[in-house]
Amino acid sequence: MVEIDGSIGEGGGQVLRTSLSLSMLTGKPFRIRNIRAGRRKPGLLRQHLTAVTASAEICSAKIKGAEIGSSTLKFTPDKVRPGDYIFSIGSAGSTSLVLQTLLPALILADSPSTLVIEGGTHNPMAPPFDFLQHSFMPLISRMGPQVNAILDRPGFYPAGGGRIRVNISPVAELAPLNLIKRGGLRSIQAQVVISGLDQQIAKREIKVIREQLELDRDHAVMRDLGTEYGPGNLALVNVASDALTVVLCSFGEKNTRAETVAAGVCAQAKAYLRSDAAVDRCLADQLLIPFSLSPGSRFSTLDPSSHTLTNAAVIKSFLDVDIRYVEISDGLFEFHFGS
Ligand code: ATP
Repeated sequence: MVEIDGSIGEGGGQVLRTSLSLSMLTGKPFRIRNIRAGRRKPGLLRQHLTAVTASAEICSAKIKGAEIGSSTLKFTPDKVRPGDYIFSIGSAGSTSLVLQTLLPALILADSPSTLVIEGGTHNPMAPPFDFLQHSFMPLISRMGPQVNAILDRPGFYPAGGGRIRVNISPVAELAPLNLIKRGGLRSIQAQVVISGLDQQIAKREIKVIREQLELDRDHAVMRDLGTEYGPGNLALVNVASDALTVVLCSFGEKNTRAETVAAGVCAQAKAYLRSDAAVDRCLADQLLIPFSLSPGSRFSTLDPSSHTLTNAAVIKSFLDVDIRYVEISDGLFEFHFGS
């Protein structure tokens, strides 16, 4: 039984999700206590509970403590059963974080799967759908499995109501990926998404993005989703280089000026472009599990977040993997994954 302390490092939901992913994959049971002890509202919230019950359904696990607010959980997995599943979070909780939990076991299963997940698709503090589609999924596909994600319906926090559909064709083994060099810059494309809000907000954000990133009209566009999906606003910047595309974003919030939202994503883009890093901080987080399953993989990134370092520590509780990170130059790090 692997024992996990949910309060380590960040003490957030990632400790639980990584434990679930690797328990499903390795068949090792685990017990976690102090779930999300580092957060204002500790314990299991809807998104985390859905990750637990969905994982349990896919690998016929026995679970104890799977209730809203619970701070302990025992998870005893059985064999992974790929197939077609529908999971509904029942709130605006992040669909991409539930997907992140289920994906490792299903990309290495013995037959294909289709997942439909309902909830939020564009949530602050979680990977937006566009990140899955343009950055993360293409990299996973380059490691062998074929994964593609479709946005059936957008869902913003707090209204929710979104739905994603993900097709997964697995492989027996992941091919290692080397993302040390990002290569030449191919394009910078910005998009401001608004839903149920005044177009002026988007126009002000686009103005700032065009000025700060020196983009022409075609490279900074508005996507107005109309009034059907509840209020939402985010500014996305896709930076495409020879080796990969990173998707950076910043969310609009009540009482935050549109200019501040736009400046937030521009600052991320400028920091990334100034550096020699291939992988941005959020993508680094998401790559830790697949890269740990594929010795020889490596990436360069900006100074890793405590979130990433916590995640690496949890991975080592389940896998016999050597995750080394070294500072190459001021603020530039390399992660190397070995067996
Ligand atoms: P809590 O900690 O409250 O449980 P949580 O379940 O959302 O919240 P976190 O531990 O904060 O969990 O993890 C959030 C995850 O979302 C991390 O993997 C982080 O890298 C990822 N993430 C956050 N923002 C972005 C973004 N803009 N793009 C891609 N990934 C993101």
